[in-house]
Amino acid sequence: MKLVIISNRLPVKAVRKEERYHFTFSEGGLATGLNSLQSSVDKFWIGWPEAFPANQAEEQQLTEELHQHNFHPVFLTPLQIHNYYEGYSNNILWPLCHYFYSYIHYDINYWETYKEVNELFCRIASPFIEPDDIVWVQDYQLMLLPAMLRRLYPSLRIGYFHHIPFPSYELFRVLPERAEILNGLLGADLVGFHTPDYMRHFISALNHMLSLNFEYGDVRLKDRMVRVEAFPIGINFTKYYDAPLYPAVQRKLKRLRQKFGDRKLILSVDRLDYSKGILHRLRGFELFLENHPEYRGRVSLAMIIVPSRDKVNAYAYLKRNVNELVSTINGKYSDIDWTPVYYFYHSFSFEELVAMYSLAHVALVTPLRDGMNLVAKEYIAAKRGLPGTLILSEMAGASIELTDALIVNPNDVCEIEKAIYRALEMPVKEQTSRLTRMQHLLSVHTVNKWAADFIRQLNLICRKNESLHNKLIRRENMALIRQAYLNSRKRLIVLDYDGTLAPFVSNPEDAVPTRELYNLLQMLASDPENTVAISSGRDHSTLEHWFGHLPILLAAEHGAFYKDNGRWYNNLPEKESWNDEILHVIQEIISKTPGTRMEIKETAIVWHYRNANPWLASIREKELEDRLAEPCASLGLQIMKGNKIVEIKSPAYTKGSEAKRLMGKDTYDFILAIGDDVTDEDMFSALPPDAITVKIGSISDHARFNLQSQTETIPFLLGLVRQEVMAM
Ligand code: UDP
Repeated sequence: MKLVIISNRLPVKAVRKEERYHFTFSEGGLATGLNSLQSSVDKFWIGWPEAFPANQAEEQQLTEELHQHNFHPVFLTPLQIHNYYEGYSNNILWPLCHYFYSYIHYDINYWETYKEVNELFCRIASPFIEPDDIVWVQDYQLMLLPAMLRRLYPSLRIGYFHHIPFPSYELFRVLPERAEILNGLLGADLVGFHTPDYMRHFISALNHMLSLNFEYGDVRLKDRMVRVEAFPIGINFTKYYDAPLYPAVQRKLKRLRQKFGDRKLILSVDRLDYSKGILHRLRGFELFLENHPEYRGRVSLAMIIVPSRDKVNAYAYLKRNVNELVSTINGKYSDIDWTPVYYFYHSFSFEELVAMYSLAHVALVTPLRDGMNLVAKEYIAAKRGLPGTLILSEMAGASIELTDALIVNPNDVCEIEKAIYRALEMPVKEQTSRLTRMQHLLSVHTVNKWAADFIRQLNLICRKNESLHNKLIRRENMALIRQAYLNSRKRLIVLDYDGTLAPFVSNPEDAVPTRELYNLLQMLASDPENTVAISSGRDHSTLEHWFGHLPILLAAEHGAFYKDNGRWYNNLPEKESWNDEILHVIQEIISKTPGTRMEIKETAIVWHYRNANPWLASIREKELEDRLAEPCASLGLQIMKGNKIVEIKSPAYTKGSEAKRLMGKDTYDFILAIGDDVTDEDMFSALPPDAITVKIGSISDHARFNLQSQTETIPFLLGLVRQEVMAM
């Protein structure tokens, strides 16, 4: 078993000089976190080495050298990089996920190349993958890859982590390829995001686009579950916490202190990107100088901007605007011995950066959108024994955890200005206590923990999927079930109706039995060794109308009524009369929830919401439960949730009590029960452990077997009674 990490880039940059390749290894958080994972597990990394070998011999040489580090290169042409990386990834997905809709630039070739490159990654990766490996796909450049790998390896453990924000569905829906992208991600067993909000948006997109529901933390697909979870990435805390003690950092710090004297320093560090809110931040600082003349000459903003994509129009334009604004502020306020804004347009070494973190009184981190923002976390960690204040944008993923920062709306220049003042005026004691709390959090939630948590969850969902998979009725277990059926002499067969023998339809009255179903029931019931029962939530007159002519047992309204020896019995001591309050609440809910309706049965009352907007229905369902809790408790009634219904009924009768009643009638050597709904779970758990209990659709903890769809029920039952074995 090994861990195969697949990312757009390898954590190494290969540069060819004098016939040889020279490598610069990344010490970025991701590489650190992944390297920290269990040393007993071999790791293998696949990605682009940021090199364009001139010929096959060079490719071969680079491949061999990278293999020594357990890296395998995916070679991309400049055109592929242009269309897939700069094009679809950075000109479409990046602005979309960061809410910069108007920055999206479409080109017909982008999507085609994005697909082609994802396929290339799949093709390159597949020879290295063994079925018991874990494959962890990283980030938005490879969103189609999980499904491509799943097609090749149906039971491979596949994880995907999205390192940038996932936008609201209202924005995501503009993407022409939205369904393909979502389906691509659903190839994974676990899809991870930095925050619960990104996770929520993703689930909402699945719900709206693909009509998939999220239950108990998982999205249910036809044959497996996909877990969606938030894993906020951390940093290598000790690396930043210990760094201020290093002599190299101390030396830098000394020089910086000489440079800035006793002036206060506000620090900002970003890549050049429109999502980082650089202009808003500068305006906030300008307003601060305007409104607080007492701070002029006493505080400077040091702005480190790491060059990025500055050949791309939007970035070049931003760079020009930043230059202009910095010049305007400095031109307006600087004097002989004070510069308001120090602007560095280059990257800093680790030692220089930590020295800046260590020295800065305030870190001003105000992206307009940011998946996480590591600078905020690094600043906190590097403040070893020193005061300091973090001003943090509420639009950065980090703001979910770093609640002791001064949280601002980065679009609000006045709020930035006020936060700067508050930070500079904050008593040292308060600064220290806020820092200490955040340092504690960061020291626990490290990048190593992030990686370990992800892999642990991935293993858990894969184990769950494996056990669910074992319940699926396939050729092998079908043969065993059939053998048990043939070997038995006294059989009880209990069948649910809606969702089991008949598909769900918009209007329940339309779900009439088909000729095929009648033939099957006749066939089952004509065997004198079989006792066949339909146990349904439907009312008894409907069941009588549909099945009264067949020699089978019937149970209606979850066992409140049953038909035996041609006669209907009522289990209830007296007829329920529905409390006005209950009816009134349901009617009120119906009036404000289009597409819902009420069914009044003899022993139960049902709110149906199959035809309603799922989101609205889920809110109303909670409201209904809340408002009915008290009246139902006082009347001793149960609120039961089923498939797109909420039913209010007596707890005395369930499909479980009906199953027990049926078993009490005789001794059986073969019991089969099939159902699809939560109400059928009572039936499954009431039956003996060796009963053949079959859940239709989503897999149940109580049933031993599973059929994925209602359309498989009749072929399954025919497979039991007919000579030829069902093809599964
Ligand atoms: N960084 C760096 N040198 C610099 C400036 C920044 O190595 O001169 C690093 C910084 O330490 C941080 C990363 O770049 O780890 C920026 O990560 P962040 O999540 O803040 O933003 P991103 O660039 O990923 O959007």
